Amino acid sequence: MAPPTFLILLDALRWDYVCAQDSPTLVELANAGIWARKVRPSFGFCEISEYVTGTYPNVNGNWATFAYRPQASPYRRWQKGLRALGFVDHLPRGHTRARQVLEWWFTMRGVPHPTYRIPLPWLSYFAPTEGAHLHTQVGAFAVESMYDVMARTGLTVYDETFVHYNRAIGSDEDRVNRLLRHCAEPYDLYMIYLGEADSTGHNFGPDSPQRRETVRRLDALIARLVERITQIYGGAASIVLLGDHGMVPVKQSVDVWSAVGALGLEFGRDYVMFLDSTLARFWPLSKRGRDGLVQLLARREFVTLGELLTPKRAGELRVPPPGSEYGELIWLAHANTMIFPDFFNCVVPLGMHGYETSLDEQKGFVVVVGPDVSAAVLEEAELVDICPTLCDLLGVEHPRQNQGTSLVAR
Ligand SMILES: [Zn+2]
Repeated sequence: MAPPTFLILLDALRWDYVCAQDSPTLVELANAGIWARKVRPSFGFCEISEYVTGTYPNVNGNWATFAYRPQASPYRRWQKGLRALGFVDHLPRGHTRARQVLEWWFTMRGVPHPTYRIPLPWLSYFAPTEGAHLHTQVGAFAVESMYDVMARTGLTVYDETFVHYNRAIGSDEDRVNRLLRHCAEPYDLYMIYLGEADSTGHNFGPDSPQRRETVRRLDALIARLVERITQIYGGAASIVLLGDHGMVPVKQSVDVWSAVGALGLEFGRDYVMFLDSTLARFWPLSKRGRDGLVQLLARREFVTLGELLTPKRAGELRVPPPGSEYGELIWLAHANTMIFPDFFNCVVPLGMHGYETSLDEQKGFVVVVGPDVSAAVLEEAELVDICPTLCDLLGVEHPRQNQGTSLVAR
C-alpha cells in the first residue's frame, strides 16, 4: 500500500494569518513544499463541494447552504408541528437550548444537519444543499467527486475527524487526538477539520488578538500532527494544509428582516425569503409580493450597500443564475456589510465571509508537502485546484467534470 495523503482543513484560515510570529510550523512547511500564498474560493458557502469535485458552484449546483425545495424538504413531514412551534424562536431565554433539543429529535429521525436560526415555521420550504449527504459517499454530488474516483480505484478515506452534514464532532483538539490514535491505520486519505479560526474570526473579528491566539493554538496542533505523521511514515506521506477561505471584518449590518416585515406581506402567500449572512434571497409568490420586494431592493440603502444579482453577474461569479432553487431575487451585500438578523447568528458577528472573492480578505492559502513535491511559491491558486492536486497525490484520475489545475506535476 502506498503511503497516505493527509488533508488538514483549516476553516477560514486567511492567507495572511500564515506568519512566523503566529504560525511557525505552517511557515516551515510552506517553505518546504508548494505554497500557494492565496487561494481564491468561489462566491458562496459550499467550499467542500469545490475542493472535492474541482468544480464551480454553477457546475456542481451547490451555492448557498439551503435551497428552496418545498416538495423535497426533509422537514415537510413535520410542517404543521413546526408552524405551531414558531413561538420557540421568540423565547426571551432558552431558544438556543430548545433548538438543540429539536435538532436532536430531527437527528433521531434521520435528519441530522443543523437548522441554525431558520425560523421554525419556515423550515419546510427549504432543503440543505451540500450538507444533505455524507459527502464522502459515492454519488453524494451532482458531479463526480474525488471520492467517487477513489472508490472506483479501490482507495479508502478516513473521515471520522472531518465534517459530516455540516457538523464536526468535538473540539479541534479532540479531533487531533483522535487522528493521532488512528493515523497508522491502512487508509489512503485522512481528513481532519479544524474549525477554530472560523469561529474566532466570526466572534472577535479577523484582526483581533483572540484570532491571533487561535492561530498559535492551531499551529501547535498542526505541529503535533506532523510530528506523528513523520514518526510513522518518515517523509513518505503527503500533507495538504488548506485554508479554504478568508474572513472580512464586519463594519455595518442591514436589517432586511424588519424592512420586509414592514411591507405587510404574508410569508408563504406573497413571498418566501432566506437570509444568509451576505445574501438576501427571495421567491415572490404573488404580484403584490414581487412589486413590494422589487421596490424595497431599489431603495438607496440596498443600492449603496449591495447589488442585485443579474444573470450576467452570476455567470461572472460562476454561481447559479437567479431562479427557483436559490432565489428569483437575490441581493448580495458588499464587503464589510452583513445582513442581520440573519438565519445563522444570534448576535452581529465581527467577521464574515461569503463576499465577492476577488477581495484579498476572502482568500485562504494552501501548502502541499510530500516525497515528490519540490519547494515552490505561487502567488495564487483557486479552491477548485485542490481536487486535482489531491487526486495526483493519491495517484488517481481527476473527476470527470473537474475544472481545476493540479498544483503538483504528475
Ligand atoms: Zn464561517
